[in-house]
Amino acid sequence: MVGDADKLIAPDAQGIATASELLRAGELIAVPTETVYGLAARADSADAVAKIYRTKGRPDFNPLIVHVASLEQAEHLASFDKRAHRLAEAFWPGPLTMVLPARADSAIAPAVSAGLPTIAVRCPGHPVMARLLDAIGLPLAAPSANRSLGVSPTRPDHVRESLGEDCPPILDGGPCAMGLESSIVALRDDGGWSLLRPGPVERGAIESIVGPQSAASGTKIEAPGQMRKHYSPGKPVRLDATQIAPDEFLIGFAAIEGNTNLSPQGDLAEAAARLYQCLHEAAAAPHPKIAVAPIPREGMGEAIADRLRRAAA
Ligand code: AMP
Ligand code: MG
Repeated sequence: MVGDADKLIAPDAQGIATASELLRAGELIAVPTETVYGLAARADSADAVAKIYRTKGRPDFNPLIVHVASLEQAEHLASFDKRAHRLAEAFWPGPLTMVLPARADSAIAPAVSAGLPTIAVRCPGHPVMARLLDAIGLPLAAPSANRSLGVSPTRPDHVRESLGEDCPPILDGGPCAMGLESSIVALRDDGGWSLLRPGPVERGAIESIVGPQSAASGTKIEAPGQMRKHYSPGKPVRLDATQIAPDEFLIGFAAIEGNTNLSPQGDLAEAAARLYQCLHEAAAAPHPKIAVAPIPREGMGEAIADRLRRAAA
């Protein structure tokens, strides 16, 4: 068994080469992205992808996001229409995942899409992840690097705590800048689209590229695995708390101070970046319960509210 320090791979040329070799050989690596840390495997290997499901303890009907180095690489995996091209141009590299029709000739392991005719693709913006994807030249399947239903990791130590003995080597990219999972957009074949998961790319920004979200009329695209209970810190969570009970750890926001504060200035981007860190702190505190101050729902607040609702479910 290797010690904790041995699990970290430095984000230099040698580290990228090591991570790339291990992935090529079908091993898992925890990787940094601007959203959260991912548990990555080469997406074209059924055995490697099976290790992701095993390590996370994840039900296998839950499809994975495939990470690519470029739009060009994504076009080998999925069919891009005009709207998809415009979204990629606007937000890639970055925290936007698109669910698109999968190409039959893509060589992606079927378990990645859990049998769906679609595939979720993203070109991430974290410089270390970008270098890794360039170096390996293969698409990487990666869900968040935590046990199924747990709080997503935004720092290497969160990955170690969540995965414990099963933790693979972690490519060290420091704390994640955005701290919330990518926005997921499904482009439907009737010209409409759906926001399957709110995230750092706000609904309004997506609407400015592809127009307002319309009611579904064509094929309905579900996001399997968008479970009501998720991101659970393992204690009861009470939302919109303006006062606290003595047995509660309060996660504050703006002027509501709390035991820790998402953003004393009331900045929603900072609150998003700190959300999982605060949930990890609250989970580790001696208090048996967690309370969270009210957070405005606009902009990035939509994604924060979505994650909090599921942490509280
Ligand atoms: P995570 O693995 O935690 O980043 O979550 C991945 C999310 O992407 C899950 O909510 C999946 O349901 C969603 N997803 C991945 N592939 C597809 C797909 N082909 N169609 C719809 N949703 C997908
Ligand atoms: Mg996850």
